Amino acid sequence: MVELIECCSKKCKWTGLQDELKKIRDQEFPEVEVFDRVCPKCLGKEFYALNGFVESEKVDQVNKLIQVLTKHRDKPFLRNKDVAHVRLTEKNQVYFFDETTRRKICISRKGRWFAFSSGALSKLVEQFPAYIKNGKAINVDALFSKERDHGFTEALQKEIKSLPCVLGS
Ligand SMILES: [Zn+2]
Repeated sequence: MVELIECCSKKCKWTGLQDELKKIRDQEFPEVEVFDRVCPKCLGKEFYALNGFVESEKVDQVNKLIQVLTKHRDKPFLRNKDVAHVRLTEKNQVYFFDETTRRKICISRKGRWFAFSSGALSKLVEQFPAYIKNGKAINVDALFSKERDHGFTEALQKEIKSLPCVLGS
């Protein structure tokens, strides 16, 4: 199982996967090749294990929505070929893996955890936990508002509205 870990340094609080730790040569034993796995941000060596991830059909649906949104001309949620995605932990927390900033954000917690350039996208992501936990359909009206054109083509609007996780589909 993939383990999500958090750096113990209160100032750092880096959150990520075991695989993403930085490998450095252990200086205590210069004669042998011993490597340490350290925090990629602060080089700290201690981590909390947050917990593992679980499979969820609703998580898959949200990830499908994110995937479809990357077809927009601005390519939101996309960095090179990496698409942002959500994951659900055993403790029922929803994490947003923001590939554009490489951050993993617990979006189940309220607060100012997120800042997209587009308020409409923030409002969208904020709705993910309620859908994943309680099945509350995601309202996408803000993306297609008549007052402000967010640049969705008609075909793309139709595709988004037909997704099972979207309100009114
Ligand atoms: Zn750290």
